[in-house]
Amino acid sequence: MSYEPVIGLEVHAQLQTRSKMFCRCSTQYAGAEPNTHICPICAGFPGVLPVVNRRAVELATRVGLALNCEISPSSRFDRKHYPYPDLPKGYQTSQYDLPLALRGHVTLGDNGQQRRIGIVRVHMEEDTGRLLHRSSPSGEVYSLVDLNRSGVPLLEIVSEPDIRSAVEAREYVTKLRQVLRYIEASTGNMEEGALRCDANVSVRPVGQAEYGAKVEIKNLNSTRAIERAIEYEIRRQIEALESGDGVRQETRGWDDAAGVTLGQRGKEYASDYRYFPEPDLPPLTMSESRRGEIHRGLAELPDARRERFVALYGLTPQDAADLTLTRETADYYEAVVAELREAAPARLAANWVRGPLFGLVNRDNLAITDARVSPKLLAELLRMLHDGEVNATAAREMLEETYRTGRSPREVAVERGLMQVSDASALGPVVRAVLERNPKAVADFRKGKQQVVGFLIGQVMRETKGTASQDTARTLLLEELSGSQAGAP
Ligand code: ADP
Ligand code: ZN
Ligand code: MG
Repeated sequence: MSYEPVIGLEVHAQLQTRSKMFCRCSTQYAGAEPNTHICPICAGFPGVLPVVNRRAVELATRVGLALNCEISPSSRFDRKHYPYPDLPKGYQTSQYDLPLALRGHVTLGDNGQQRRIGIVRVHMEEDTGRLLHRSSPSGEVYSLVDLNRSGVPLLEIVSEPDIRSAVEAREYVTKLRQVLRYIEASTGNMEEGALRCDANVSVRPVGQAEYGAKVEIKNLNSTRAIERAIEYEIRRQIEALESGDGVRQETRGWDDAAGVTLGQRGKEYASDYRYFPEPDLPPLTMSESRRGEIHRGLAELPDARRERFVALYGLTPQDAADLTLTRETADYYEAVVAELREAAPARLAANWVRGPLFGLVNRDNLAITDARVSPKLLAELLRMLHDGEVNATAAREMLEETYRTGRSPREVAVERGLMQVSDASALGPVVRAVLERNPKAVADFRKGKQQVVGFLIGQVMRETKGTASQDTARTLLLEELSGSQAGAP
């Protein structure tokens, strides 16, 4: 029998705010000593009053809008109870039945083949602290609690079970991360824990309408882990069904080193959390005008930008996708095009940004914004190339030097003798010297072998280290050849 995987993802993203969700503690605790960025609110003392971070609400609304969701005019915070040492209050302040945003979607793929993955909801909550597991010299294992992360604003983005393969799950998270970064809602850095993913996986016989029992795989912290864990889990579930054991609804963990998912505990249900409305926080209202204001402030999203690049600059969908992968590269590219002011085609700029420049930047693991080649300098180089002042080989050499030093490409070209020579008075002596050294070619030309002209141009190029203008070299060669022919006895 063949089976179809059904996958839904729950993604947690840390919002990029300066302060925490319900207090004024700083979120910039990376590298700080444990428990140095805490106060009675985020440390969970009783009798304190939380205050909602306005910026967090704005960023969460941006995300809802970017994911095509409806923004609730009124939403609410709830207490989600569970006992754990990293959760000093004994409950997490979250949103349950009235989340900030509902019913959206993410589009995967580009023009050719598009797939829509539904978004069930986007809600706000707070992060927990962290446990640091240690062992004493005598081998006793104990845990330390660090509450620096406690109360950091988090967004939970829940997808519909619309994903149908491990690869698609990876694409979905990659796309989500791209959008979050574009709108500056989250760094999306999975290795730092700013983006975390739980994957719900089930399989069903092809053609069956009902979903099978699902397994939730917790805390996948790289796109690779997401793909591998789901791949593994699909296989495990199919085997369990085939062997007649069946799939048990449960929570499993991913062991990255072993490449397997492991049973952790039975699945808990919403009623286990004893959700109830947070009495210390008023309902969260989002007026039509505030929502509109946030919408207008939203950056152009990757899909729209990619399509605009195709339409406006005549790029291929692939070039446009590569250039819009991050907002920074798209901004860089558009800055180059603006500098060029149509002095060279936007397509030429696309080829050079995507090819040689990305090559250098990726080799050195640099952000494009840190490259010494500013858009202005690259535009200078491209104008020279387009005007025939330098050839492509020279332009590459100039790019590398400008990339290394930030010097003007023109300066580099002049200093290194890379400027194309199209000046007849400079090329004339070279052409005559080449003819003198190749009497056989000259004789062949007179016998009517036109092809030798190509060979002679090649010699001129070699003589000038590729800087001669081919057109000028050809004209001068033909002049000299017909001249010497006329003068021959
Ligand atoms: P729970 O009540 O267990 O939290 P939800 O209905 O809230 O379940 O869904 C949680 C996540 O699991 C969502 O992303 C949803 O798309 C996904 N999901 C729900 N049912 C299935 C299923 N049968 N197989 C795979 N994923 C599922
Ligand atoms: Zn605090
Ligand atoms: Mg759930």
